[in-house]
Amino acid sequence: MKIGIPCEILPLEKRVATVPEVVSKLVQLGFSVAVQSGAGVAAHCDDAAYQAVGAEVLPDAATLWAASDIVLKVRPPTADEVALMRPGTLLIGFIWPAQNPALMEALQAKQATVLAIDCLPRTLSRAQKMDALTSTAGVSGYRAVIEAANAFGRYFNGQITAAGKVPPAKVFIAGAGVAGLAAIGTAANLGAIVRANDTRAEVADQVKSLGGEFVKVDYEEDGAGGGGYAKVMSEGFQAAQRQMYAQEAKNADIIITTALIPGKPAPKLITAEMVQSMKPGSVIVDMAAEQGGNCELTVPNEAVVRHGVTILGYTDLASRLAKQSSTLYATNLLRLLEELCKAKDGVAVVNMEDDAIRGLTVVKDGALTWPAPPLKTA
Ligand code: NAD
Repeated sequence: MKIGIPCEILPLEKRVATVPEVVSKLVQLGFSVAVQSGAGVAAHCDDAAYQAVGAEVLPDAATLWAASDIVLKVRPPTADEVALMRPGTLLIGFIWPAQNPALMEALQAKQATVLAIDCLPRTLSRAQKMDALTSTAGVSGYRAVIEAANAFGRYFNGQITAAGKVPPAKVFIAGAGVAGLAAIGTAANLGAIVRANDTRAEVADQVKSLGGEFVKVDYEEDGAGGGGYAKVMSEGFQAAQRQMYAQEAKNADIIITTALIPGKPAPKLITAEMVQSMKPGSVIVDMAAEQGGNCELTVPNEAVVRHGVTILGYTDLASRLAKQSSTLYATNLLRLLEELCKAKDGVAVVNMEDDAIRGLTVVKDGALTWPAPPLKTA
């Protein structure tokens, strides 16, 4: 079967669904690989690099989609892309079925089979190698710190110089999931003093192991909402948390917010008043900007200054490290394709008896198979 890699066409998207280092491994599985000319350029993978490892370079999107049995993408396809899709195509990429009902219908009409990498059952340990949400969140958390450092007017680490003593930056991280933990590790490695909070008490040890201090809300309620994810907290908890965050905001030079609750708008944790209380020159990176933001003053996709505080609402953090995130993503998809092609004969077989594969198959031969039934094993 031929695997096709089209250009990502959404604005700001620099990633590509596979990189030359992975193409050679796809070829070893028996697949042939075609890449749309220029698909990897923004991720520093040019056409020649793909050709050197055996990929065919096709001139445009129409030719690419028409030639491909399997299409690997990063972003969900647009209506124009679905129109180019051959009936019966196997599509693999981020789909977000709950947010994209029209896309789901169009894919069914095309008799497609669709593996939504965002629907992978992440708690299955053997699915971890395919977990693109984790890879992406890790890159984004790292990049959030780099963006904060870029916008901040001082060092992160404390220094004693002939010109005087420089205090370390104080960083507060709201939400210590995958992205938050990556941000904690990166900020601590740069020498900042890092404090972090999450509604799930179980992350306290992980925060400590990365060099941060876990700050607990003074209210007895745990935020674990099942499957490792958070729940919406009670009014009482939220009030106690606001009080604690108001103190943290006054002390912090940098706040990075990552708090999300599946299927809900992002919790508003940083109020306008808290922003006003921060020191001039402080920085907030709101990693939840795409889901409505954790900070009341965030503008998605923009850097704004409010009350002397720079608030970054970038939603393309992973794409800002395009080569790194593309390489990790390509490796996650390679691991998935290895599962689909155990015979190494270049034929992908979607085995609905396999828990991991069942979980991420949202359309099978044109029939809706989302949402998947609960896992049989964990
Ligand atoms: P996420 O992006 O949904 O949320 C980010 C963090 O925000 C979470 O830690 C959440 O608890 C926190 N949060 C939500 N509301 C909050 C609030 N009001 N205040 C403070 N923090 C709040 O989560 P994620 O990063 O995708 O990971 C969620 C969980 O899934 C983690 O426990 C992670 O370890 C787990 N996970 C497990 C596996 C696996 O088992 N293989 C794989 C990946 C992730």
